[in-house]
Amino acid sequence: MIQLHPDVITFLLQGPKQLFINGEWKDSVEGRTFETINPATEEILTEVYEAGLKDVDLAVEAAAEAFENEWSQISSYERSKLMNRLADLMERDIEILAQLDTLDNGKSINEMLSADLPNAIENLRYFAGWTNKNYGETIPVSGEFLNYTRHEAVGVVGQIIPWNFPIMMALWKIAPALATGCTIVLKPAEQTPLSAIYLGKLIEEAGFPKGVINIINGFGKIAGEALVRHPKVNKIAFTGSTPVGQRIMKIAADTLKRVTLELGGKSPNIILPDADLDKAIPGVFSGIMVNQGQVCCAGSRVFIPRHMYKEVTDQLVDYANRVTLGNGLDESTTMGPLVSKRQQEIVTSYIQKGIEEGAHLLVGGKTIESGYYVTPTVFTEVEDHMTIAQEEIFGPVVVAMPYDDLEEVIERANASSYGLAAGVWTENVKHAHKVANLLKAGTVWVNCYNITNAAVPFGGYKESGFGREMGSYALSNYTEVKSVWINL
Ligand code: NAD
Repeated sequence: MIQLHPDVITFLLQGPKQLFINGEWKDSVEGRTFETINPATEEILTEVYEAGLKDVDLAVEAAAEAFENEWSQISSYERSKLMNRLADLMERDIEILAQLDTLDNGKSINEMLSADLPNAIENLRYFAGWTNKNYGETIPVSGEFLNYTRHEAVGVVGQIIPWNFPIMMALWKIAPALATGCTIVLKPAEQTPLSAIYLGKLIEEAGFPKGVINIINGFGKIAGEALVRHPKVNKIAFTGSTPVGQRIMKIAADTLKRVTLELGGKSPNIILPDADLDKAIPGVFSGIMVNQGQVCCAGSRVFIPRHMYKEVTDQLVDYANRVTLGNGLDESTTMGPLVSKRQQEIVTSYIQKGIEEGAHLLVGGKTIESGYYVTPTVFTEVEDHMTIAQEEIFGPVVVAMPYDDLEEVIERANASSYGLAAGVWTENVKHAHKVANLLKAGTVWVNCYNITNAAVPFGGYKESGFGREMGSYALSNYTEVKSVWINL
């Protein structure tokens, strides 16, 4: 077990963690707090002030003031420098940030240090490079007129994020908004408030003007909805579940707020008969098991050629048996607990439903005495209509299904209300392109899975949402296009 960094211990021991509004640390107006729990030990880590309606209002007013008078006025170079300074501070304190997410979420410290934090920092630096490159264009309309377009910041953005990659999701959202000149009110998930609070301290140290980034912890129904309703919030960027995304869209309709939604998935991962199984089987296994299966793009429906079905599922069981379940702070852990007791209950109830509907539980499906663990689970004899093949489980559960031919598997892979991601395993380049073209998903991985990069767009088709994170596409989430006509 790694030693906690002394600053993490001090941070946890300080009283309730405050809200970061207008560059200052504040108790919530109503003084309510909530506890955050370590899912590996079920112990209370610390208390956090809960934002209510008045706090949301204060944060939005601060962001509106900062937008008008500060952030949209300073040079793109200054914005870029501040973003890079924040990235430097995140690198300096990478261990602290990693430990806070591991304590709060349960995920492995190795993943935090090798994936989540490098990815978060990469996003900040990538978008710092965009501050002076989000060009408009001149449009040749006629000799009489000059027409040009400007990409202008949309204004105050409310950003609502989930608990599965706390610091990474925060930076996926914050970085493009800052680059375009928007100001931000960020509401982290109530299960994992800590790394965002620490980020607030780094934002302060980096020297951002007050009010540019405000961080308010609290609950979705109260603080989240208040942000969506607030008339001075110009745009909501949401990552979370599809039902909450639907609700947000309905509420946002009242003020015709701009909305982008990154929602859930039930992604197919298809092994073709010509796949190299030595790569495909571990790839499929980690495609679902990373982060305990709590990944929006998890390859949770695994399609296997019928003649290979037994061989592949037997090997998936071997991989499951080799997982080291444990506290994320232990470097030998390869799978931590789920984020909360509630998430453990949701996942185990799906496992129960799978058994009741007639699927065969080959391995896993167990909880252990203390901590919110679920052992890696593999189901066979699953049929497309079963609940475990249809709904997002958001846990370490492989749903393995045999198929007979390519046309059939494409049709079944696409027969989902979701369309976030998909995987295909093949050694034949023609098959790779053909299947990639036919799958209805925002990302298709061939002979790899769960790879992202700050320069590459990520987002969903169908009920997995709309708008794209990362890449130049993310800039359009945060800008309006203005046409200017000059009569020559
Ligand atoms: P959730 O929808 O319950 O909560 C997400 C966030 O929304 C939290 O901050 C929560 O407080 C807030 N919220 C809840 N109800 C709200 C409301 N009525 N109004 C405003 N805000 C509200 O989701 P979750 O359980 O935290 O996260 C898991 C879900 O997120 C999964 O479905 C997963 O697929 C999805 N997800 C998607 C992506 C992606 O990029 N597409 C990435 C990560 C997670």
